[in-house]
Amino acid sequence: MHWKTKKWIVNEPHVMELFKRCQECGSVITKTTKASVGSLLRVHWECEKKHKGKWSSCSDVRGMPANNLLVSACTLFTGATYTDVADWATLLNLQIPHKTTYFDIQSSYLVPVIDEEYKQQQKAAINDLHLQTELCNPVHLSGDGRSDSPGFSAKYNTYSLMDDTTDKIVHFELVQVTEASSSVAMEPVGFKRAVNTIQEQGIKIDVLTPDRSPSIRKIMRVEYPNIHHEFDVWHVVKGLSKKLCSNSRYKDNRELQPWTRSICNHLWYCCATCGGDPDELIENWKSILYHITGVHSWIEEGNPKKCRHNDLSLEEQHRKKWLGKDSHAFRTLQNLVLDRGLQKDLRQMALFKHTGQLEVFHSVLLKYCSKNLHFHYASMVARTQLAILDHNENVGRQQATTTTGLPRYNIVFPKHTKEWVAKAIFEKKKLKKSKRLWLRKLYGGGWTPALFTRTVLLI
Ligand SMILES: [Zn+2]
Ligand SMILES: [Zn+2]
Repeated sequence: MHWKTKKWIVNEPHVMELFKRCQECGSVITKTTKASVGSLLRVHWECEKKHKGKWSSCSDVRGMPANNLLVSACTLFTGATYTDVADWATLLNLQIPHKTTYFDIQSSYLVPVIDEEYKQQQKAAINDLHLQTELCNPVHLSGDGRSDSPGFSAKYNTYSLMDDTTDKIVHFELVQVTEASSSVAMEPVGFKRAVNTIQEQGIKIDVLTPDRSPSIRKIMRVEYPNIHHEFDVWHVVKGLSKKLCSNSRYKDNRELQPWTRSICNHLWYCCATCGGDPDELIENWKSILYHITGVHSWIEEGNPKKCRHNDLSLEEQHRKKWLGKDSHAFRTLQNLVLDRGLQKDLRQMALFKHTGQLEVFHSVLLKYCSKNLHFHYASMVARTQLAILDHNENVGRQQATTTTGLPRYNIVFPKHTKEWVAKAIFEKKKLKKSKRLWLRKLYGGGWTPALFTRTVLLI
């Protein structure tokens, strides 16, 4: 395949050295003319004996120099922008297609090829969900929206739904600010559209984990009463951590400071180990109020209860800075732990949902749709599709191993925790392989663009 061939950066004078002698008779070449089309160089030559010839730096494909198609495809497929690539090429004085050619190729070939790949993959993802429904396996989805710029000036909101079983993105909605009353109103619009689209395809969503904003909560309650609304544990724990930190700054609550992390870990642990039972979750959560005062077994409503940790040694029991039951710090904690809002939220956290994988997807999205740039709608759709193809192909990557078969780690020092941690190193991403398949498709491979729009896209 021509698209696979090696390419070299060759300087023009070096190319011209090849046109000194006639290939047919060996006589001196008397006339050469150069012509270029984007990245293509074409040389016409004529020798003393009037032999003529033509040489091209690459072949033609789809009626254009193949390298023009490839430069454009590789730019978009890797999430770069024309501007980035053109800056680099201009400095090097490397010849690439002109901006208008690039955008023409993008709308005529690249956007359609991405769209087709995406739709194929999407069909498979929806079929998976159908299969889950048929097998009576509950369908659990998580959802989150991303605005293209921080604050209230966003132009787009990308709402994505992820299948909790596979961590694959199964649907996205791109909402423009013109479709909603304000920037912040875009997310609920995208959320509803996304959920409706999935339901319209005959999929019964059992559990959904979108964010906890009042607007989404209301929509869930009013419009989707049959879908169980779960909360993302990570967000709730983060909220609690913030409250604990701000409260423990007061002099009377200082004793809470060394406990902050343990309390947050405890909440996380309770959600992770309750086995889906909200009553057990709440009971365990409240036990922190005993433990923190140094009491590890007690009687509640006539039943003996105890902490879940192993028995503490005398020294451990002695060393810990337990809170006094009458202290101000304890009462502050009591108010936080027994807060009615939190108790209510905990009922929606027993399935231990956390949307970390959606955050991972958002970082992939950032690679293809940078927040600093404004993209035309069609480009934005194609770039989001690329990000989803990239993410879905790479979920469930195995941890990389050393030659001796041991799992590989990086030792990192995150600023926020200020503690050394081992982070798993994952296998290399795979997308290169599928990107090559798309190039093959573009190159012929029996594929013709379904949409042949010649509108020029801006970035
Ligand atoms: Zn000749
Ligand atoms: Zn205890």
